[in-house]
Amino acid sequence: MGAAHVIVLRYHEIALKGRNRPFFVRRLSDNVRRATAGLPVGALARASARLLLPLDDLAAWPETRGRLARVFGLANFSLAHEVALDGEPDAALDRLGAAILVRLSAVSMSSFRVLTKRADKRFPLPSPEVNRRLGRTIQEATRARVDLDHAALTVAVDILPGRAFFALEKVAGAGGLPVGTSGRVLALLSGGIDSPVAAWRMMRRGCAVDFVHFHSAPFHDRTSQEKAQRIAAELVRWEHEAVLHLVAFGEVQRQIVAAIGRPLRVVLYRRMMFRIAEAIARATGAEALVTGESLGQVASQTLPNLAVIEAAATLPVLRPLIGMDKGEISDQAARLGTFETSIIPDQDCCQLFVPPHPATRAHPEDVEAAERRVDVPALVALGVAATERVRLRDGEDAAAPAARSVVGR
Ligand code: ATP
Ligand code: MG
Repeated sequence: MGAAHVIVLRYHEIALKGRNRPFFVRRLSDNVRRATAGLPVGALARASARLLLPLDDLAAWPETRGRLARVFGLANFSLAHEVALDGEPDAALDRLGAAILVRLSAVSMSSFRVLTKRADKRFPLPSPEVNRRLGRTIQEATRARVDLDHAALTVAVDILPGRAFFALEKVAGAGGLPVGTSGRVLALLSGGIDSPVAAWRMMRRGCAVDFVHFHSAPFHDRTSQEKAQRIAAELVRWEHEAVLHLVAFGEVQRQIVAAIGRPLRVVLYRRMMFRIAEAIARATGAEALVTGESLGQVASQTLPNLAVIEAAATLPVLRPLIGMDKGEISDQAARLGTFETSIIPDQDCCQLFVPPHPATRAHPEDVEAAERRVDVPALVALGVAATERVRLRDGEDAAAPAARSVVGR
């Protein structure tokens, strides 16, 4: 008769319509399985616009709920309990009521309602009648008020042939699209507040996101790298696994500084970052770069500068925060749990050897003339060669950096 407890996972059918739907649902199913690996769950099954995941041990529900809440593509989900509905309908309903009361004994609520869906029309009692009868049972036992419009708790009942499911809680899903359905991107992760939010937003749009962080070793300490690792470890909980590329950028910067005057340095650093990131992206199958830039937030984020910096890359540069302001971004970072790490002071690589007032309007001709004084391909190769790869997996400490100079996934 199936499991006694089953998690009902719902996705937005509309969002997943069309030819791609089987692909989306398959990916969503894979992601649900990966997110719940190691938990006492049974085989995942499909039903119309929902997935069913048996839960073998109720004690694992809080952990399971936490993990499922980070699976993109789910609209909402609930834990449903099964009751056999065989035999005489009145007695069957009494058994259902008793089973509901057992689960409600651990819950305190001011008001409630019962919402029944009768998929099996052969069950002789219509839904409103089931609502009324169960409502009366619950009210007598709990003394809670019935409130059809603003109930503190909804008892959702599904009547199927020979059995019923009831659920007491509907958990909001993460929304968006299943990770992996929109391809892979490489997010430039600074250790600041914005870039983690940008990376997360692309995950939510279905991208598998890898990370690249530039640091100024040996001229700076390791703080920014450690922050980037912590933030990436937090973010990977939403996509299961990823790679963080740590680029030792100090030597590239030193060579730029040796050849080029001050006002343009930040713009040139950025262009080199984009080129190195692009080389890593191409070697790892990423189809776009992602940054946390937001228009006008700082000197390097004026339209002319964004244009000059972007011109160094040929892959698309996605900037999901471009129209958001700092307050909105910070709120989202706080909800994500990256804010606290992001505000730890560090030494930002872009502040190495730069003037307090960088150019806000870099002219392409000046930038190109300046770059003719360095060997750009050699610097890109230098940066790529100075890259460490850190493998990240949800629930694991960041693995020790893999061999240097290996770019790959
Ligand atoms: P953030 O809060 O993400 O650091 P920011 O407001 O400090 O952004 P900038 O310093 O101009 O803005 O950086 C803009 C974007 O460039 C960042 O969001 C990030 O995507 C990328 N970036 C900047 N510094 C680094 C770095 N050291 N490593 C990787 N990416 C970086
Ligand atoms: Mg920053």
